[in-house]
Amino acid sequence: MSEGSQAWWNTLARLAGLVFTGLLVGLFLGHVLVGLTLVLAVALAWQLFNLFRLDYWLRDRSARDPPDSGGIWGNVITQVVRLHRRKRFHKQRLLDVFRELRHSTAAMADGVVVLNAQSEIVWFNRMAGRLLTLKRRADLGIRITNLVRDPEFVRYLQNGDFTDTLLVARTSGRGPSLVFQVVPYGGNQRLMLVRDVSEQVQLESMRRDFVANASHELRSPLTVITGYLETLDQDDQMDPALRGPLSEMRRQADRMNAIVRDLLELSRLDARTVEVQGERIDVGALASLLRKDVLARAKHPAISLTLDSTADLLGDESEIHSALSNLVDNAAKYTPTSGVIEVRWWVDAAGEGHFSVRDTGFGISAEHLPRLTERFYRVDAGRSRATGGSGLGLAIVKHALQHHGASLQIESQEGVGSTFTCHFPARRVLAGGRGGNMPVISGAHTAPN
Ligand code: ADP
Repeated sequence: MSEGSQAWWNTLARLAGLVFTGLLVGLFLGHVLVGLTLVLAVALAWQLFNLFRLDYWLRDRSARDPPDSGGIWGNVITQVVRLHRRKRFHKQRLLDVFRELRHSTAAMADGVVVLNAQSEIVWFNRMAGRLLTLKRRADLGIRITNLVRDPEFVRYLQNGDFTDTLLVARTSGRGPSLVFQVVPYGGNQRLMLVRDVSEQVQLESMRRDFVANASHELRSPLTVITGYLETLDQDDQMDPALRGPLSEMRRQADRMNAIVRDLLELSRLDARTVEVQGERIDVGALASLLRKDVLARAKHPAISLTLDSTADLLGDESEIHSALSNLVDNAAKYTPTSGVIEVRWWVDAAGEGHFSVRDTGFGISAEHLPRLTERFYRVDAGRSRATGGSGLGLAIVKHALQHHGASLQIESQEGVGSTFTCHFPARRVLAGGRGGNMPVISGAHTAPN
């Protein structure tokens, strides 16, 4: 028999003994009920006394020893003491872990801020206080956007999409450049990590400046060289033996000009860190202009234009022109004149816009695809140079699209052809453009140039 049930049996036996004693006393007094009432009152008083002692101890249990009772009350008190000790142990352990966590996050090199569902500051560590100039007591409970007022940061927090980090770069010396990362947890709570990246931003800006300055410096001498080469080329008295080397020099000078132009374009794109707003761009008109350019330059016979939507695009016209023209130019460069090029613009059911350039050219094997948008990455350097490529075209496309929240998808098969598709988010697609009575499919040979 267990200790618990033994105590119950003892209590019951004691109660039975008491009732029996009460009966005997009642018989002795000539009033059985009086005897029974007396002993039951004594039993009740004893239970109440034990209950009182337990209640008294429970109220002030940390300062006193538990009451020393036997029987069933003793069992109850032992259970309560055991539960209390276990709870105290777990509470202490939790407190220790929490304290350790606070100490370690407080000493972290990154700023940590805990925000509640209303974006109010619940807690922050020392580094967060330093980076965001938060005051320990005064700023607790204040909405973070009232203290960090940077418009990009406010938009990032209100957007609620925390898949990417946010860089707030400050190059003009107004405080540090910061990277924010928000991790939602436990329902509506948010943990915000802040890192000082001023040094990286500074180095990056120095690198950009260097490339831009070097390209600028190269531009003037190149213009002079190209000018002289052109003059020499037009000289009728030029020794015929020099004609070949001269035209090669002109070709190389043109290549250098293209590289310098693309480098300048890239550093201009690089310098922009925020998404552009821009103006309304008539994609149909732009696409047919690009088609005309290719036809004029490359004399590519089969380039068709399919406009499935009259929607316009919201963006920076020169950047979008630069991105799309690079894609169309590449298709013309890397497709033999017997091949076909199809340019298409359409808007899907979700309102997202897509601009694709498909060709039946040389194609690219799978291992090159992930690296294609890197600067100076060429699949076939010889072919790229022969076509006057700078190796920077797709890097320009990638950057220009990034500024519009858009992405580039590349599908290609060696010997079959390639499709480059720009995907624009719905917020960039403006319905009711001036595309006229679209959709129109203009075949290569039928469309007016
Ligand atoms: P480039 O100035 O050399 O054309 P890009 O950055 O525009 O530089 O392109 C990078 C490389 O990707 C090119 O050198 C070429 O090998 C490959 N490429 C780009 N577009 C196409 C295409 N439409 N078909 C086949 N290869 C392509």
